[in-house]
Amino acid sequence: MEIQGQVTLKHGRAKKIRNQYPWVQREELHRKENVEDGVLTRVLDAKQEFLAIGTYNGKSRFPVRILTLEDEPINEEFFARRFRESIPARESLKSITDSWRVVFSEADHLPGLIIDQFNGHYVVQVRSLAMENLKSLWLPALLSVFQPKTIYEKSEMAGRKEEGLDARVEHLHGSTPDVVEMTEHDMNLLVPIAEGLKTGFYLDQRNTRHDFSQFVRPGDKVLDTFCYTGGFSLAATRAGAKCTGVDILPIALDTARENARRNKLEIPFIEANAFEYLEAGADGLGPFDHIILDPPAIAKTSEKRDALKWAIWKLVYHALPLLKPGGTLMVCNCSYQLTWQSTIEACRIAASDKGTTLNLERLTFQDIDHPAPIHFPESLYLKCLWLRKGR
Ligand code: SAH
Repeated sequence: MEIQGQVTLKHGRAKKIRNQYPWVQREELHRKENVEDGVLTRVLDAKQEFLAIGTYNGKSRFPVRILTLEDEPINEEFFARRFRESIPARESLKSITDSWRVVFSEADHLPGLIIDQFNGHYVVQVRSLAMENLKSLWLPALLSVFQPKTIYEKSEMAGRKEEGLDARVEHLHGSTPDVVEMTEHDMNLLVPIAEGLKTGFYLDQRNTRHDFSQFVRPGDKVLDTFCYTGGFSLAATRAGAKCTGVDILPIALDTARENARRNKLEIPFIEANAFEYLEAGADGLGPFDHIILDPPAIAKTSEKRDALKWAIWKLVYHALPLLKPGGTLMVCNCSYQLTWQSTIEACRIAASDKGTTLNLERLTFQDIDHPAPIHFPESLYLKCLWLRKGR
């Protein structure tokens, strides 16, 4: 694609871009010339020197997203190189699973493009108008570098509206089955690609699910809330724990039950609103040795931060009475907007309100196929606090 026009940054705004931060805010733009929404453009510093090539969309909160700091052609070969560069970071997962995130947007220097692959079936999410327009370059590159069995586009995220894009769900290569089989730590799992959430499965929790399965002892009683297709419950039950999963989404629960069956595990999966279920005392199934709270990203913007914080307060407040003294509460937060420190604060207030204490024993993050470049703090979005209740 041709590079169109140029944008000039205000004085002092180039340094963070040189330091690999990928977003330019509206207020940081000094001038734009001959640039339309959804194109590639040249990004200049205040002295009019070349800084980067980025994508442009004036409608977006971050109108410029950096694609490269090199003055280079953006063609199929560029995308093929980016894809090849993403491979080494995922290499060590091959001995554990056949499924991982192939490309994580800005964290893999491809702003607006997310690609997960499940046992050779590739699921793509396009988050920006420019990436949509660049499809004729990255799609052939994806085919040549990875030789996917199929490619499915599942671009339904709310963020597309801001970019002026509608939802788009379609087969891009071959015909992806609605449900795909994958393996993670010798467990056979079904991924509901068409009807499930996001791309179909939460690959980002892989390491924490595994750590948890190593942590539980045989016979431990576990309540897995927001269980989706059963990830934590399946891993922990296989390690000998007695789990109950809770989720609000029927398709997730159907898949969770089928996952349990095919791995010869006995796990009750209950359809309920986790907030109400905890508040009502979890059907009297407790007290539990461990409770997992893995709510969805309630806060996508900073304005919603407080809503998420109080949602976490509420979950912890109602979970604590159901947890044995010395038991562990795992509080996961997949929203960049709410830091782990603020998550702890919500937990601290809930614990004081219940007259108990919590010790932070571990902090785990998203798995390595969701890279977290430290120069781009927004990329470290998933935090799981492992908290032990006082005696
Ligand atoms: N722990 C899961 C991922 C959780 S994703 C894993 O390891 O795979 C968040 C889940 O929360 C989704 O499955 C969604 O259906 C569920 N959810 C959203 N709101 C809910 C609510 N109020 N009560 C219960 N589940 C809810």
